[in-house]
Amino acid sequence: MILAIPQFYQNAFTASSAQSSAPPRRAYYSSARSRRSLTCLRPLVILRKIDMTDTRIYLDNSATTRVDDLVLAAMLPCFQNVFGNASSIHTFGQEARTAVEQARREVAGLIGADTREVVFTSGGTEADNSALWGVFRSGYRPGRHVITTRIEHPAVLATCKSLESAGAEVTFLPVRSTGQVDLADVAAALRGDTVLISVMHANNETGVVQPIREIAALARERGIVLHTDAVQSAAKIPVNVGELGVDLMSISGHKFHAPKGVGAMYIRKGTKFAPFMTGGSHERKRRAGTENVPSIVGLGAAARLAQERLAEMGSRVRGLRDRLEAGVLDRVTGARVNGTAERLPNIVNFSFDGLEGEAALIALDLEGVAVSTGSACSSGSLEPSHVLSAMGLRAETVQSSLRFSLCYHTTDAEIDRALDKLVKVVERLRGLSRRAAV
Ligand code: PLP
Repeated sequence: MILAIPQFYQNAFTASSAQSSAPPRRAYYSSARSRRSLTCLRPLVILRKIDMTDTRIYLDNSATTRVDDLVLAAMLPCFQNVFGNASSIHTFGQEARTAVEQARREVAGLIGADTREVVFTSGGTEADNSALWGVFRSGYRPGRHVITTRIEHPAVLATCKSLESAGAEVTFLPVRSTGQVDLADVAAALRGDTVLISVMHANNETGVVQPIREIAALARERGIVLHTDAVQSAAKIPVNVGELGVDLMSISGHKFHAPKGVGAMYIRKGTKFAPFMTGGSHERKRRAGTENVPSIVGLGAAARLAQERLAEMGSRVRGLRDRLEAGVLDRVTGARVNGTAERLPNIVNFSFDGLEGEAALIALDLEGVAVSTGSACSSGSLEPSHVLSAMGLRAETVQSSLRFSLCYHTTDAEIDRALDKLVKVVERLRGLSRRAAV
């Protein structure tokens, strides 16, 4: 079946305020799946025309967000009108350059950076890779010790493993049951040859915010470079590189209504950095590759919108998340919230006694509610969340977890309906396992 493009554009411009993203309406799951060889909860999908009456509820905004109508509108001219290469001298090129530099100002504005400190990338993963390799290879001071935490995104964890293969010694710090790293652990891990600390600003599974300012103070005293992965926090809470005191930072557009495949890296002026992507002299020689003008323009537009909406994220969206949380704790026995330290306003991670998270995810999806589990797809099998495990949760508690993540477009009605459906699903699944046990 073919996706009807004209209809798609029509939806892009006229979608309801709920902005419920509208991928395929029906999902089919493989029935013969064993626990560990299942196709990773990824539904087998059939492309269908987007349904304007779609009433599904998307509460998986930490995985990705729908491109905002205003972002799409800003991007569209860049595919066919402003199509020049931003490095070209002629007018076509200069128009593209102007668009890229406007976006750079918008991104710099979101994070409190100077425009010269913003480098566009293909997303959060590239920004994390570039930041870590860029500092490690720069040789700005002797040493090969790197500090990170056990709860980082794989974009940082796997890169740290690669750094180890290249001769680095990496300390992977534990976290407390609250989900936060202990400052005393950071201080104790510091060595004379520590060159880099990478600690995420907020965790993608629990939303827990890490004490970056305090870590920055420790790093600064010793001249150690500090990177933070702000992929989840940017556009959700105020993120200001000056106030945080970081030297490098990663952000990703698709987490705040820009398209997938675009992000940015902040590099504080004066930080020694060896480019990870080599080639031409784009991005002041810090990231080679022809600029992806439409996506960069989308990132800029999303950054501007995010700044305008930040206060509402902290009040209305936080209020919705709190209402969902209170409703679940009130109506579902054996429910608990994972991550009790300060959190982003849009994420809540629950565990439910006696529930299989993946079964609940599928049941909720069939009810039209999209969430995610505390499990990650890796090579076609489900790995229990390394984040919840690092917080000391027992394996069965980890397996029973579900993450709900909201966005600016989430409505009161969606939260109420999602809560009703969750209560129903948990009761039904628990009833089924009770019957299976007798
Ligand atoms: N870092 C964190 C904390 C994330 O949540 C993600 C994506 O989920 C990434 C990095 C990777 O970003 P991207 O999907 O843009 O490569």
